[in-house]
Amino acid sequence: MNKADFPIFQKYPNLTYLDSAATTQKPSSVIKGITQYYTDENANIHRGIYDLSAQATQKYEAVRGKVKDYFSIPHLEEIIFTKGTTEGINLVAQSFVLPHLKAGDNIVISAMEHHANLVVWQHICQQRKANLRVIPINQNGTLEMTVLDKLLDERSKLVALVHISNTLGTINPIKEVIEKAHQKNIPVLIDGAQSILYPDLNIANFEADFWVCSGHKMFGPTGVGILYGKRQYLEEMQPYQFGGDMIRSVTFEATSFAKLPHKFEAGTPNIAGVIGLGYALDYLKDIDKYAVNEHLKKLTNEATARLLEIEGLRIIGRAKNKSGILSLVLEEVHPHDAATFLNEQNIAVRAGHHCTQPLMDFYQISGTLRASFSGYNTMEDVEKLVDGMKGMKRFFV
Ligand code: PMP
Repeated sequence: MNKADFPIFQKYPNLTYLDSAATTQKPSSVIKGITQYYTDENANIHRGIYDLSAQATQKYEAVRGKVKDYFSIPHLEEIIFTKGTTEGINLVAQSFVLPHLKAGDNIVISAMEHHANLVVWQHICQQRKANLRVIPINQNGTLEMTVLDKLLDERSKLVALVHISNTLGTINPIKEVIEKAHQKNIPVLIDGAQSILYPDLNIANFEADFWVCSGHKMFGPTGVGILYGKRQYLEEMQPYQFGGDMIRSVTFEATSFAKLPHKFEAGTPNIAGVIGLGYALDYLKDIDKYAVNEHLKKLTNEATARLLEIEGLRIIGRAKNKSGILSLVLEEVHPHDAATFLNEQNIAVRAGHHCTQPLMDFYQISGTLRASFSGYNTMEDVEKLVDGMKGMKRFFV
């Protein structure tokens, strides 16, 4: 993976883009593919008899096949296109958990969840007088696995856990958590929003019951995402939204629903988004993930070592097993001031709580400055970040 594949770096050759955890840049193949769809192929899908519609349908449905292959998903009908991670989690909350959730039940999450994998669980627990249980973390940003055993019991209706933390970079031992939950017959949802460069993204192997992710964090467009769910669960679940395209027959008295996966794809979907996602998967398929991960490790290790030489700088999240995400705190410098300072040098980073406010409370900070690497970043980007942070220290402290 390199910068030449991404037109934005030609447009802004001096840009140091370190915000891939928020959204990745898009390779030209994805941008061209979406333009081509709108220029040459645009039609609504599933309903049309004419050629253009049939071709658009075929192209949209072919992406389901690409998702199946890429993530090693057993069955095509286990793949639902959503608008992103957030929608996938909401769908599982409303259609899978809520109908069975009773007072006194519990849902287990972790202390490092993104608000997308927290607020909806809190909301439905409050609706049903159920309990939200939280797997704690230690100061390094690693899950306290021994506590997990005590949190899981016969009243646990779901474990909802992030694979890779968007704030700490921690890579959680999801296989171990899934095994422990399954021993007690508790289904597990994995938030895979940050997982796309993980070298072995084999969902069947992880045995997750649900997996959610967003197209825009995997080199694809915004407004599209994937929900994987085990067929037995999806079959039992009621639809999440109702309308066109998700029905078999409708009368004023009753409606019967379409089969999977269309039961969960009401209305005209994000056709261009799904097609763009297909091009992103084509791009990713040709990438050596192990090499990319080695590269990310080098960048992260070098940046960590060099940044820690700066007096007063702390890195929040020091798990042994972590991805290319660095959350920085520099003494009294407010993260927003820090990000504004770096922006002056064309360095794009994120500042704030990163949609993980309880995590900020745990570390007793208001926010961090987050630099996140992807496959297109280089050692030069690391140099710029380190120089930028050194300059900041001189300027503010
Ligand atoms: N979970 C994690 C770990 C994330 O990083 C994000 C995006 N920052 C989300 C969930 C939500 O993703 P989206 O906004 O694409 O729905």
